[in-house]
Amino acid sequence: MNASNTGPILSVANLCFRYGPLEALCEVSFTVEKGDYIGLVGPNGSGKTTVIKIILGLMPPGNGTVSLFGTDPSAFEERHKIGYLPQKLTNFNPYFPATVKEIVSLGLFSKKKFPKRILKGDAELVDEAMTLTGVIDIKDALIGELSGGQQQRVLVARAIVNKPELLILDEPTTALDPEARENFFQLLRELNLSKNVTIILVTHDMASIGKYASKLLYLDKKIIFYGSFENFCLSENMAHYFGEFAQHLICHRHD
Ligand code: ADP
Repeated sequence: MNASNTGPILSVANLCFRYGPLEALCEVSFTVEKGDYIGLVGPNGSGKTTVIKIILGLMPPGNGTVSLFGTDPSAFEERHKIGYLPQKLTNFNPYFPATVKEIVSLGLFSKKKFPKRILKGDAELVDEAMTLTGVIDIKDALIGELSGGQQQRVLVARAIVNKPELLILDEPTTALDPEARENFFQLLRELNLSKNVTIILVTHDMASIGKYASKLLYLDKKIIFYGSFENFCLSENMAHYFGEFAQHLICHRHD
C-alpha cells in the first residue's frame, strides 16, 4: 500500500451551507475511510443531496473544507475514481434504441481524453461490470424493455465500469419494489466486500440499510449520528433521540 492509500478518501470539516437565508448544513464534519459502506439517512430536506453535491464539486462549500482523495473537489481531475448515480431514475422509453451493453460502455467516456474512442481492452471492462452487476445475460436487450430493478443494475454497471474507488448513490431505490431494493443493497454490499469499493448510499430505507451498510450517517442539517450500526444500537443518546422503539426497529433490521 502506498502513502496515498493510507489517509481518508474523503474528509469534510466544519461544513456549513446556505441557500440564501435557508441554512441547509451546519458544522458538518466526518471522514470516510477506504472500504466503508455508509448509509446516509435523514428526513426530507435534511441536506443529504446538498452534501453530496458539495463532495462531488458541483457546488462550492459555503464554509468549511472538503478534501476528496486529498484534493479540493472542484479541482479534482481524476473523475474516473468516482462513480455517481444521481437521484432520478431515467425513464427509458421502451423503444429507446440502446442496449444494456451500449449504456454500460458510455461510462467509459469519463476516463477518456479526446478523441474518445472505445478501444480493445474496453470490452473486457464492460463485460466485467456487467458480470458483477448480474446483467451480462441481458447485454443485448434494449434498456427500455427492462424492469426498474434491472435498469438500476445497468446504471450501476455504467457507474463502476472504470473501477471507481468511491461510489456515491443518491436515493437510487425509490422506484423499486421492496424485493428489488433489498437485491440492490445486496449488490452494493458485494461490490463493497469483493472489490473494496467505498460506498456512500443516500437512502430513506433506514429499516433495511443496517443489514448491508457498515456505518450510519444520520443528518438533519447537522450530524445527529455517525458511526457503526453496532454503536448506534448501543447509544443511549440515539434511544433518546429516536425513541427506544424506533431504535429497536432499526437495530433489529426488520423488513
Ligand atoms: P435532502 O436531500 O435531505 O432532501 P436537500 O439537500 O435537497 O435535502 O435540501 C436541503 C434544504 O435546502 C431543503 O430545505 C431544500 O428545500 C433546500 N434546497 C435544496 N436545493 C435548493 C436550491 N437550489 N435553492 C434553494 N433551496 C434549496
